[in-house]
Amino acid sequence: QAKRQGRNHYQFYTADISERFHVSVTIRNELQHVLEQNALQLFYQPIFSAKDHTIVGVEALLRWQREDGSYVSPAEFIPLAEDSGQIIPIGSWVLQQACSDGVRLQEYGDFQVAVNLSSIQVHRANFIESLKHTLNLTGFKSSKLNLELTESILMEDSHQAIRILDALRVQGFSVSIDDFGTGFSSLSYLKSLPIDTLKIDRSFIQDVISGKHDAAIARGIIAMASQLDLNVVAEGVETAEQVAFVEEAGCHYMQGFYFARPMPFSELICFIQNYKAKRS
Ligand code: C2E
Ligand code: MG
Ligand code: MG
Ligand code: MG
Repeated sequence: QAKRQGRNHYQFYTADISERFHVSVTIRNELQHVLEQNALQLFYQPIFSAKDHTIVGVEALLRWQREDGSYVSPAEFIPLAEDSGQIIPIGSWVLQQACSDGVRLQEYGDFQVAVNLSSIQVHRANFIESLKHTLNLTGFKSSKLNLELTESILMEDSHQAIRILDALRVQGFSVSIDDFGTGFSSLSYLKSLPIDTLKIDRSFIQDVISGKHDAAIARGIIAMASQLDLNVVAEGVETAEQVAFVEEAGCHYMQGFYFARPMPFSELICFIQNYKAKRS
């Protein structure tokens, strides 16, 4: 009996793996056509000042809607697009769309627009040239564009990374380290990097109220980053208690479902106008 169960279990397991493989092959194939099918969309999530809860900027988050109306999570398809090289045209589309939305957004206030970048994009030889090209095309200002990179981009080749970051800074872009705390970079290493902002990963914020260790890590990151003159954003703030915690810890900015979920551009405009009206 036990043996049979074991075997059934095994079969279930392999079926699960092959199904997942099948799904990723399907997504891989569909990915090749997302641009021509206009299946990509940018959502925007506002970022708030901890000081006075004004909106200081937004983060662009990619959405892919399939023909049946379902959404594929970027956490699922970005890695596949990176593998296949599709991230290059997709990433260019994201930058262009975010910059042209960014130009329209300036009519409603002085907002930064943050865009997530993949390592493969950043390490392309013509990366900075293509960024400048996008700004020229759209009329968006580099000082309004914030580039979000993950720690891994910086760890792969730190000399190359520093060269790229320096060049970005010369061009007037600001740079954030995304998901900070999940990689292996140390704060002493950060000291040598020309970056502006750390975004504390959501996983630390989640348990700041219940978990003593996460609270200590979050406090530590905020305190040390401030000493290094870096801005700190708390990602994934969902409750009033978490807001109170990160404010008390001296965090500068907050982003999360407590304030707003990612939303289409047209909803973002409504959100900004309502938010302003409510507070004045
Ligand atoms: P990320 O850059 O760290 O973005 C934050 C993620 O956390 C987003 O997930 C956002 O919807 C989610 N989030 C924000 N606030 C909360 C909260 O309070 N609670 C919870 N549970 N989640 C929250 P999303 O949109 O699914 O994106 C996942 C990841 O995919 C992003 O993580 C980013 O690494 C990547 N990604 C998204 N758009 C792009 C893009 O245009 N290019 C690249 N290369 N990567 C992207
Ligand atoms: Mg991000
Ligand atoms: Mg993040
Ligand atoms: Mg992430």
